[in-house]
Amino acid sequence: MTAFGQEWPEPARRAITGLQELVGADEGGRARIALAPGRVNLLGGHTDYNDGYVLPVAVDRRVTCAFAERAEGMLEFVSLDFDDRFIIDPRDLPRYREDDGAFERLAGGRENRWRRYAAGVALEMSAAGLPVPAGLGVIAGDVPLGSGLSSSAALEAAVYLALSNDRATPEAALLCQRAENRWAGVPCGIMDQFASFMAEEGRALFLDCRDLSWHNIDLPAGTAVTVVDSGVRRELAASEYVKRRQEIETALTILRKVAGPLPALRDLTPEVFAEVDDLLPEPLRSRVDHVVGAIARVKEGVTSLALGDTVRFGELMVECHQSLACLYEVSIPELDRIVELALTVEGVFGARLTGAGFGGCSVVFHDNECAEALRQTVTDGFEKNFGRRPPIHHLRSAGGAGVWSVER
Ligand code: ADP
Ligand code: MG
Repeated sequence: MTAFGQEWPEPARRAITGLQELVGADEGGRARIALAPGRVNLLGGHTDYNDGYVLPVAVDRRVTCAFAERAEGMLEFVSLDFDDRFIIDPRDLPRYREDDGAFERLAGGRENRWRRYAAGVALEMSAAGLPVPAGLGVIAGDVPLGSGLSSSAALEAAVYLALSNDRATPEAALLCQRAENRWAGVPCGIMDQFASFMAEEGRALFLDCRDLSWHNIDLPAGTAVTVVDSGVRRELAASEYVKRRQEIETALTILRKVAGPLPALRDLTPEVFAEVDDLLPEPLRSRVDHVVGAIARVKEGVTSLALGDTVRFGELMVECHQSLACLYEVSIPELDRIVELALTVEGVFGARLTGAGFGGCSVVFHDNECAEALRQTVTDGFEKNFGRRPPIHHLRSAGGAGVWSVER
């Protein structure tokens, strides 16, 4: 299956075939195919909710929504991966109100989480005054679920573009973030959606989480990213995440008494922190220490990348990992071991846990040439320690989400 002289990636082929089967060839007409990538964050880590910076790369794993619009009627979504479907009425979509159960009435309960993301996007479009079309959307993806590559944001972005036929914009990313916050009940920051929409191939996206200014920076040629899944479900992540956010709030309250107006930790320079850090009891001092250092490291990392200094960039990744492990205390032995093993491989620049921690993945930034050696070393070493071979994904940087109109 080709369009614009290009092969469609695997999930798009499945979604298009699925749509054709469901709609029937006789109906003819056009379809919109939206593709949105997952992402992996190279630097930063709990920096987003501190108004700091992040540096994600979109990767060549995607969620697709193949959509056939109808002039009127209902809006139906089908998930090929979950073998599930649901229908909503685009003329009668509820508004979001805290805990009023509107979603349950609409898409039927808390099971089938994917429905919440897909319907949530339609609901937020409606709330934003955008038309929500009738039609059939078929969804398929190959972003691994729940392992830190942000399949949920890719799903939201694909659904948004399929329904709206819009361009990828920061406003679209914010809309999808609201869908996830409100309708899926996940208090995520803006990075995942922003990266899925605005990333560019061969580049990393430097995003200021305060004002959403961003620019893309070239990744040095011949570099690649490998993600190793610890296989540990992030069960603690939700409760520990809330705890970290509370600790930061408490630390800010204390710091504001001496350091003056301090909207967020972003505004605390390493120099000022060094003067006031003994006011904070542990673990608050360590938590703030991590955030201040991590924000500074993203800035330095951007300069290193721009200069093609992969060695310094890699060092910053490792420093970031150590800080997440020792000061923020969100690592686990599996993630630490992956980093350790990766760093023994010639051609690896750096490695760190990525995402919120307590499970999920470590990301390795390396010379393309050493991908195979890396796979061997990490899987063998990990197996020795933990008795199983971890899923490992060699990834290429990909462009941001887009939508194409095609003949069915
Ligand atoms: P991640 O880190 O991958 O974003 P989340 O728990 O935030 O993990 O999101 C995973 C959820 O996103 C899945 O449980 C599912 O509801 C939804 N999702 C992701 N990919 C797909 C897909 N291909 N089809 C349907 N739903 C998907
Ligand atoms: Mg997610």
